[in-house]
Amino acid sequence: MNLIMFGPPGAGKGTQSALLQKKYRIKQLSTGDMLRAEVASESDLGKRLKGIMASGQLVSDDIIIELIANCISEPECEKGFILDGFPRTLAQAEALDNMLSHMGRKIDHVIALQVDEEALIDRIHARAAETGGARSDDNAEVLKNRLKVYNDQTAPVLPFYEQKGLLRKIDGMQPIEDVSEQIETILENSKAA
Ligand code: AMP
Repeated sequence: MNLIMFGPPGAGKGTQSALLQKKYRIKQLSTGDMLRAEVASESDLGKRLKGIMASGQLVSDDIIIELIANCISEPECEKGFILDGFPRTLAQAEALDNMLSHMGRKIDHVIALQVDEEALIDRIHARAAETGGARSDDNAEVLKNRLKVYNDQTAPVLPFYEQKGLLRKIDGMQPIEDVSEQIETILENSKAA
């Protein structure tokens, strides 16, 4: 089972993906986590990524597409994967489609977490307080930019999956357990079908 977890920054993609990874034993692939690890390694690439990520801009499609192509061909993704934070542009969605069809695989569901932007700002504040500001992009200023980037570049990816009949929208403002229950209902119903 191959899933895409879709939604603006702070919508709960990471939390829900981690729960799904545990329950269904499919691999969570968080591009944000991979890029943060690259930055932490202080590699040349990491140094180039640092400023882009801190400002809330998107890293180039080429870098991200290569990263994902390498990951999904790994044995740990054989049973399935959850894409958490990818695709974020139409070019990424098209590249993903291409690579999966070459591998004889496909996306089964795209789960879109819907949230209200004001509440997102509160969530990001809470996350910054919890993590002691560990992420350089967890502040209100950068969040506004990240939301703009999401609305301009990432939200237009939704119709791509809607046309394929894969998109399922969920109210991401509900408690974590309710969101995950609804996701599981979608996945279980499609198994039975
Ligand atoms: P995230 O943890 O998913 O919110 O990602 C943190 C940051 O990593 C984003 O603001 C982008 O700078 C970068 N990033 C993560 N995933 C992608 C992607 N699919 N395409 C471009 N940039 C990305």
